[in-house]
Order: sequence, then C-alpha cells, then structure tokens
Amino acid sequence: MRGKQRIVVLSGPSGSGKTTLVKRLIHEAPVRLVKSISATTRKPRPQEVDGDDYYFLDDAEFRKRLANNEFIEHAEVFSSGFLYGTLRTELERAWHAGGWAFLEIDVQGAMKVMQQYPQAVTIFLKTPSPDEFERRLRGRGTESEDIIQKRLATAAKELQFADRYQYSVVNDQLDDAVRQICAILKSEESAENA
Ligand code: 5GP
Repeated sequence: MRGKQRIVVLSGPSGSGKTTLVKRLIHEAPVRLVKSISATTRKPRPQEVDGDDYYFLDDAEFRKRLANNEFIEHAEVFSSGFLYGTLRTELERAWHAGGWAFLEIDVQGAMKVMQQYPQAVTIFLKTPSPDEFERRLRGRGTESEDIIQKRLATAAKELQFADRYQYSVVNDQLDDAVRQICAILKSEESAENA
C-alpha cells in the first residue's frame, strides 16, 4: 500500500527560501515529485498564476469544498487570517502519475497529514539564524511591515514543531539543502523497495 501512496511533506517558515528550493527539488530529486497545488483564500501576489501556484478561491468556495470533504487537511495559517488546504484530488493526481505527492504546507497541516498518512516522509526546513531569516523575508520586498512581523512570530511558533518531523534540514546554502533532501528521498525510496 505504502508504495502506491507516497507523500513528502515539507514545512518551513515563509521566507526560508522554500519556493526556490521546491523548484530545484522538482527538477533534481531522484524520485518523481509531483507538487500538490494548494487551495487558498489569500489573494494572488504579482506573478502568481491560478491553478499553477495555488487554486485561489474565495471564502465561500473554500468552505463549500470543505463541507464536501474535498480536503485532506486545511488550516488557517498562523496570523495570516487566510485558509490554505490540500485537496484530495492533488494526491490522486500525483499517484496516478506514478509520483510522490509533494506537499509544501504549514505545521498544522503537516500534523494532520502525519496522522492520516503515517508513511509520509516529513522534512522541516530551518533558516540558519533568526537574523538571516528576517533579512531574507525583507529582501523579497513583497510584504508590508505588519505582515513581516506576523511572519517572524509565526516562524518562531512553527520552529517548536520541528522535532515532530522525521528530518530537519538547514537551508543555509541552497545547493547543500537540495543535496541533503535528495539524499533523504533516495534512502526513503530504497527502504521502501527493500
Ligand atoms: P504563502 O502565502 O507565503 O504562499 O504561504 C504561507 C504559508 O502557507 C506557507 O508556510 C505554506 O507552507 C502554507 N501553506 C501553503 N499551502 C498550504 C496548504 O495546503 N495547507 C497548509 N496547511 N498550509 C499551506
């Protein structure tokens, strides 16, 4: 069963360099990763494309899908005021393609996925230091001061969940982080096929 329902969960603070890392992993991982596209009620940022970065839903549509039991997990991501969730159909899409469903979700969602899919490979991405994290967050230049402060508080809160994940990876040098995660996936795949 496990072989058919492969899941990787990656969590880490927004601004930890996750987006770039995820893109690299999709191309470079030794296993086929199919990125789950989350649904969210937050508005698209410039450059973000509906159905590609996220499914951007309004509150009513999100809640309707929740009521229809279409999500495997959802959460109001800390301090954001917005709902985010993983649609069941995203897992199925990955599995039908013969790949691993790759979920980049927050710690609350990750805890729910771990309960339902104990076989999930779980990775927490850390930033090298709080200062470096703040620098990266500001460097992106897309968020207001209020949002930045909230994200810093969220990151501190999320860090408390790090030891609930199977693996922790520090995203200091991008190449190193990519290499470490590829090694994790390779060994998980080998263990599964043993
Ligand atoms: P952003 O708004 O910066 O794209 O994402 C904010 C946070 O939402 C990130 O920490 C990300 O991991 C989390 N997130 C994205 N999609 C999901 C999801 O489907 N479920 C949960 N629980 N969190 C998500």
